[in-house]
Amino acid sequence: MVLQNITVIGAGTMGNGIAHIFAQNGFTVILVDVNAAQLEKAVQTIGRNLDRQVSKGMLTEEQKKITLSNLSTQTDIVAGTAKAGLIVEAATENIELKLKIFRQLDELAPADAILASNTSSISITKIAAVTKRPGSVIGMHFMNPVPVMKLVEIINGYATTKEVTETIVALSKQLGKVPCVVNDYPGFIANRILMPMINEAIYSLYEGVADVEAIDTVMKLGMAHPMGPLQLADFIGLDVCLSILRVLYDGFGNTKYAPCPLLVNMVTAGKLGMKTGEGFYLYTPGSKELMVSERFTK
Ligand code: NAD
Repeated sequence: MVLQNITVIGAGTMGNGIAHIFAQNGFTVILVDVNAAQLEKAVQTIGRNLDRQVSKGMLTEEQKKITLSNLSTQTDIVAGTAKAGLIVEAATENIELKLKIFRQLDELAPADAILASNTSSISITKIAAVTKRPGSVIGMHFMNPVPVMKLVEIINGYATTKEVTETIVALSKQLGKVPCVVNDYPGFIANRILMPMINEAIYSLYEGVADVEAIDTVMKLGMAHPMGPLQLADFIGLDVCLSILRVLYDGFGNTKYAPCPLLVNMVTAGKLGMKTGEGFYLYTPGSKELMVSERFTK
């Protein structure tokens, strides 16, 4: 195994950021997605984010060039994983999809490769159980936006070996991140605490307690949160929030995690937040102004 070679599966919101930081820190990265257009978009996003780092004096032009030269893309998972020392899966938050991907990765990746998932809430133990190497499966939960956020929540599955945990802790530090090791229970720590707050904010809107701006302003100014919970939900993706709440609800069997019907409706209607241009707010490419969606201003 060469831990120099990193494969990232999924080039969406998280995958591009994960590929970015590994490439920036000198690793050879292959970014894999089933959707070629998504790969193109991811490389453009990485380029824009690197430009921002250069303009802020955090990176030189030369370092930006080296970062981009460390990165390549693939739509073929077979070619993308053959030489990987570590694979970080960041595909859509769907259990059946993740189990399918991990069965494939187990077949395709070198025998000593570590298989990590960036899942927000799906059981690492369950994912590991479909492989023949459960000791080498671990959660590596980066935060959004990955190049900016310091935390990596590292999740030990039931069978994850101490050696694998130590390797991933050391690697996270090498990326300039702060690792926190937690155990594998629904939602881990980050989302077990965050998602009930977001759900409660959506319930407050649904029940007419306050409007979008008031809810977010109370939490920003009152609790010193950099973003209100409704804006944060848009940023994460409402589909991702709904999937996590369902994992918490199913995992604990407790109705306190039942997703708000408004969230369910918005996801069904395809209003997924920033990535689709509309959630609680409207997002116009190139505009920094935050406008509440018309649906919530009537
Ligand atoms: P996303 O919807 O933005 O991107 C998912 C990508 O996976 C898409 O580009 C899709 O084409 C690709 N994909 C689907 N099936 C695939 C396959 N078989 N092989 C390769 N690629 C495939 O999702 P996201 O928000 O980036 O979330 C990815 C993962 O990260 C999820 O597990 C999510 O829970 C987790 N996560 C998300 C956030 C967040 O803020 N969005 C934060 C932390 C963790």
